Amino acid sequence: MTGFKSLLLKFEVRSAGRKSRCSHNKNHEILKGEPRVVVKAPGVATPEKGYCAVCGRAMIERAREALLDVERDLKQ
Ligand SMILES: [Zn+2]
Repeated sequence: MTGFKSLLLKFEVRSAGRKSRCSHNKNHEILKGEPRVVVKAPGVATPEKGYCAVCGRAMIERAREALLDVERDLKQ
């Protein structure tokens, strides 16, 4: 199953190297050592954005729903 273009942005969970703020809501603090979802937008030299675990879970849930919708459309 290699060679397919990915439908997803590049992202991964990393523990925060230092205290930082969530890119979705600046009021969300991410403490050093806490997991954060790091997302890399497509393109060369685009910055990475970090999201707190709460927002990260919400983003994953949205992505899951979007994938299920597309999959459902293909089955019809
Ligand atoms: Zn957040």
